[in-house]
Amino acid sequence: MLEIAPGLYQLNGFPPDMVNMYLMGNILVDAGTRHAAGGLLRQLRGQHVVAHVLTHVHPDHQGASKQICQTLGIPLWCGANDADVMRTGQMERQFPDPNTLSIRAMNRFWAGPAYPVTRTLREGDQIAGFTVVETPGHTPGHLAFWRESDRVLIAGDMLNNINMANMQEGLHEPPPIFTLDRATNRESIRKIAELQPAMVCFGHGPVLYDGSRLQAFVAGLMATA
Ligand SMILES: [Zn+2]
Repeated sequence: MLEIAPGLYQLNGFPPDMVNMYLMGNILVDAGTRHAAGGLLRQLRGQHVVAHVLTHVHPDHQGASKQICQTLGIPLWCGANDADVMRTGQMERQFPDPNTLSIRAMNRFWAGPAYPVTRTLREGDQIAGFTVVETPGHTPGHLAFWRESDRVLIAGDMLNNINMANMQEGLHEPPPIFTLDRATNRESIRKIAELQPAMVCFGHGPVLYDGSRLQAFVAGLMATA
């Protein structure tokens, strides 16, 4: 894994940058699909991990959560408004149309089992030196994590920095079929742009080290709204 900012590591997913996990201090952020557990555990060997937190409860982020938490003996945390889906496994509640083929395939082949959430996070909570920012829309309980001292933001899937169809780097709103409430997600994008992050880490796509590109993207988005 690669240290991308002091105390913040990007774990290698497959393909690289496609599905990202981070070690934020001693907290694991996201866990990929349910096939990711082995690779994640190998990379975390020798690390003192005390908790696992989700940016949001979707199959490509919570797939390996149960296996990771059980193997490492650590608790699972997530946003208050996603916790019920994690606890019950009712993943179909997290998509606008759960019956489309790609959503059914994701839920069938990537989703991890239900698992207890021992702490639900809210706006302003402090974890591993980062502040929890509620950023609903993509899912109701979607969270971002913000460290003001060096203006680092972990943005989850509120924005993607890759085009999933052709693997080209670039900022995009997340695909509509995966986003429960697009208008609310746009409000969340506006909210994080106001923080003026210098560096942004995404659930999908490479880390963005030039915060001005985020500002330009969001300005364009709001102009078309
Ligand atoms: Zn995702």
